Amino acid sequence: MEIDDVVRLAKKEGVQLVEFLYVDNSGIARGKVTHVDHLKGRMISGIGLTPAMMAMNVFDHLQPIPEMTAVGEVRLMPDPESFRVLPYHPKVAAVMCDQISLNHEPWAACPRSFLKSIIRQAENMGITVRATYEDEFTLARLNEEGKHVPIDESLCFSAAGMVAGNPVILDIVSALKDQGIQPEQYYPELGFGQHELSISATDLLTAADNQVIFRETVKAIARQHGIIASFAPKPFVDQAGNGGHIHFSIWDKESSKNLFWDADDPLKLSEIGYQFAAGVLHHLKGLVALTCASVNSYRRLQPGSWSSAYAAFGKDNREAALRIASTFWGNEEKSMNIELKASDSTANPYLALGAMIASGLDGVKNKWHPGDYVDVDPGTLTDEERARLGIKKLPSSLLEALEALRTDSFFADTLGDLLFRSYTAVKKSEYDMFARHDVPFELNYHFAKY
Ligand code: GLU
Ligand code: MG
Repeated sequence: MEIDDVVRLAKKEGVQLVEFLYVDNSGIARGKVTHVDHLKGRMISGIGLTPAMMAMNVFDHLQPIPEMTAVGEVRLMPDPESFRVLPYHPKVAAVMCDQISLNHEPWAACPRSFLKSIIRQAENMGITVRATYEDEFTLARLNEEGKHVPIDESLCFSAAGMVAGNPVILDIVSALKDQGIQPEQYYPELGFGQHELSISATDLLTAADNQVIFRETVKAIARQHGIIASFAPKPFVDQAGNGGHIHFSIWDKESSKNLFWDADDPLKLSEIGYQFAAGVLHHLKGLVALTCASVNSYRRLQPGSWSSAYAAFGKDNREAALRIASTFWGNEEKSMNIELKASDSTANPYLALGAMIASGLDGVKNKWHPGDYVDVDPGTLTDEERARLGIKKLPSSLLEALEALRTDSFFADTLGDLLFRSYTAVKKSEYDMFARHDVPFELNYHFAKY
């Protein structure tokens, strides 16, 4: 779509306001809104934004980054392809934006531009990536004491849970379809009030955009039903966590063949597929600081939770960080993909997807091999067995993850100095803030903000 197409469509649909959205270092979608009469001009020159917003944490506390102060400006430049009329918000549309410097170059702290640079890196290696998030979320109501209470206590995959969830899920599904997002599967999950709704894989940039749209749509539709939807990784200490697993595959740019597929391999995974997995596993201790991005994330990332606690891989192993997913009958080659379970929906999806793919590509460049796959829960192995298999425990707090992110120089190189500095400063400040509060505050705050 060109600018004129967007303006025509907005007018035809009776849109009054258009949201120019970006995602900050805390994974929060933010933006500014233009009236439709100024849309064309704003599509050309963007909407001005203070660079300080990328130093803002999830408490709106500004962190001291010299390039992100009261002085200066970046522009929110919309991507016309991402324009959508919001089905849940009459007369409002939204468009995803890059943050562009006044010299017209992508700003060094722009997450969406970062993801685009990783897409280019893959393409230079002859690779295109397809991916999608597979989100779990909790539906709850606020009780009189201000506590979140799940909408029901139905059992995992139960028909009773479908009855409880269906009115809101049906509206979510049709709102996703209206925005060009294809729902795939739905089911009530293990936790009280927990539901899972998967959507189809797309190219990498669209996958990140879709994750933003998905989260906002689920929350907005739930709200229309008088329900609060939350993607908090561990909404209640005694209930299952909400994963935001990433499914991904890599394809030959020229021949459009799935490069992960090898019919002769026991896991059906190709040599380049093993190398890619090795790269993700090699960097995973630091990578989780970006894919499991909140303080609350590490309550979920525990052994025995089917969310993975070890940097291991296995065929359909739901306790391994990388699950080599079994393929669909009749569509084996095309459906071959890997799932990263050490991932949740508090992440900025542009950073999470970009850093994960960059890690995989690093494995391909270095021709790494991930060692043996595990066909048991790695948590049931002894320390000696895990050491022999080269299986490392994932960080057990955001602080530990940030330390791993700093120690692995790959990430500072990959993200670039400004993005790396602002991300780690924002995240460390969140760790410090939650450390000063109790557990109920942490649960409640994550529930409300994510
Ligand atoms: N709820 C689990 C998690 O936190 C995932 C359960 C599953 O879908 O296997 O990731
Ligand atoms: Mg699930």
